[in-house]
Amino acid sequence: MDFFKGRTVFIASMHGKEEVIAPLLEKELGMLVLKNKTFDTDQFGTFSGEIERSLSPLDTLRKKCLAGMEHAACDIGIATEGSFGPHPFLFSVPAHEEIMLLIDRKHEWEFVAKTLVTDTNFQGRTLDNEDALRAFADEVQFPSHGILLKDQASNFQLVLKDADSMEELYRQFKQCQEMSGTVYAETDMRAMRNPTRMKVIEQVCHKLLDKLNCPCPNCHSPGFDVVEQLPGLPCSSCQMPTASILVERFACQSCQYSVDKNRRDGRTFEDPMYCSFCNP
Ligand SMILES: [Zn+2]
Ligand SMILES: [Zn+2]
Repeated sequence: MDFFKGRTVFIASMHGKEEVIAPLLEKELGMLVLKNKTFDTDQFGTFSGEIERSLSPLDTLRKKCLAGMEHAACDIGIATEGSFGPHPFLFSVPAHEEIMLLIDRKHEWEFVAKTLVTDTNFQGRTLDNEDALRAFADEVQFPSHGILLKDQASNFQLVLKDADSMEELYRQFKQCQEMSGTVYAETDMRAMRNPTRMKVIEQVCHKLLDKLNCPCPNCHSPGFDVVEQLPGLPCSSCQMPTASILVERFACQSCQYSVDKNRRDGRTFEDPMYCSFCNP
């Protein structure tokens, strides 16, 4: 991709994410990666929760990316943000959404890729004793995956982290118990302490690169992508439009060229079950 080749990109990341992102940018786009040594991304909120994030994930990401680009005096920046919690559709299943953003100031481009997965060890609970701690540790794949110990789930005063052995974790558990009486254990979702998340960051990075590889048919700028899904898939019985998606609108950020394409799954009719005329 000639738009990016040979240009310097800054990865606004503190938690080892550049280990998976940098080689992909170098290999796939021919970019020169400026590695972060001093940029403090924790001012935008962290997973250890010391600073609660106050913006939406995409806004946090944009702010982080732009601040990093300014810090590094780079006109391209990349940043990623994870959100963890109950899955939006699957009841009581924990989910991980990772959003990656690339900003190119030279061309005034912004590319976003997202992925939502259930492959996460995200967990948290109050632990009463060392047996419960041992069980929790096994469940969340400690010590390959990190654990945070806090005095309580939210509005906590105390966070102990970075234990890398069961002995150290027991020691932190005792310390937390002595200082506050209760211990709330939570998975550490920072990328360098969570290989499962690291894998998802790699996936979303591939997704972003795939996106950049779709050129605009009009001006050849990268990232010709879906901006809107339009409803109106006709009912197979009465032919009236339903609320289901009929076409996807692809648009270019540079020249505003857009085109509506049929559904990728090839469906041209909706089941009357979802028709508000046939099945009101
Ligand atoms: Zn275009
Ligand atoms: Zn119908």
